[in-house]
Amino acid sequence: MSENNDMITSGMIPTAPDGYKSGFVGIIGRPNVGKSTLMNYLVGQKIAITSPVAQTTRNRLRGILTTPEAQIIFVDTPGIHKPHHELGQVLVKNAQVAIHAVDVILFVVDCTAEVGGGDRYIAELLTNTKNPIILGLNKADQQGEGNQFLDNSYQELAKDHGWTIAKFSAVTGEGLEALQTSLIQNLEPGPYYYPPDLVTDQPERFIMGELIREQILLLTREEVPHSVAIAIERVQEEDSITRVWATVCVERPSQKGIVIGKGGSMLQTIGTAARQQMQKLIDGKIYLELFVKVQPKWRQSRTRLAELGYRVEE
Ligand code: GDP
Ligand code: MG
Repeated sequence: MSENNDMITSGMIPTAPDGYKSGFVGIIGRPNVGKSTLMNYLVGQKIAITSPVAQTTRNRLRGILTTPEAQIIFVDTPGIHKPHHELGQVLVKNAQVAIHAVDVILFVVDCTAEVGGGDRYIAELLTNTKNPIILGLNKADQQGEGNQFLDNSYQELAKDHGWTIAKFSAVTGEGLEALQTSLIQNLEPGPYYYPPDLVTDQPERFIMGELIREQILLLTREEVPHSVAIAIERVQEEDSITRVWATVCVERPSQKGIVIGKGGSMLQTIGTAARQQMQKLIDGKIYLELFVKVQPKWRQSRTRLAELGYRVEE
């Protein structure tokens, strides 16, 4: 029987060739610097949701890039900041755990502004790690001619700590080949950790929920975004269509009103946009039904957080 199991395992994950490299790269940085956008670009598929709203990423999410020379597992983390409530604490704790649980650290900053207090706070957290660190200057496309002087403060920071620098844009892709090369140089020889065709460790259901949350972040007013969690209640796969039932949990009745909108118009808009994203994800037709429920104080309750899939990783 165990022989049988071995056969199944080796069938899914092939043995890596001699000299093959692999390892985990932790993407860390302040909120909104483009960590999730970068990971999506590098793995070639949208697995992490992104938005101009800070704190879009809640779970530690792995993105897998397999090339002929190496397999890089990116660990996207919520931005590091000072926590205000239980959810914030869980997020920051997970980012800190990630720093020590990886092989290489990619510290991403926004090079359209100088080094700030938030960046220095992270630099301090990083002084205790022995892992190689690459300082990634993102949003190069937005920096503008004549503004390269902004890079000086980052060059100084990198020099002080002995870090390597890479400059790129997670939107246009410029500089990302060089970044990839630099990351691979810093990895040790190792096996395939995941099947070569896999791009994320997250189940499809989780990403579906995230795609719904993304539309709420993009479409609703300020007071709603951080109060929302999505539970995928049921997924039913049929021959020509996949049916999905999901609940949008908010904290207050007023937020429920905003999410539903006049005559249900907002929920309709959210549903349509999320459905289009989900169809890309599964490459097939989706029927989506959304419900909205008030769950007071879900962010303060560790049990409720766990039920909704937000875990503190040990
Ligand atoms: P995260 O919080 O660090 O994960 O940031 P996100 O990936 O969610 O990105 C935050 C915002 O910055 C989004 O609106 C992105 O479209 C935008 N963004 C990310 N990378 C770039 C980039 O290289 N150039 C430009 N112009 N915008 C970017
Ligand atoms: Mg993110």
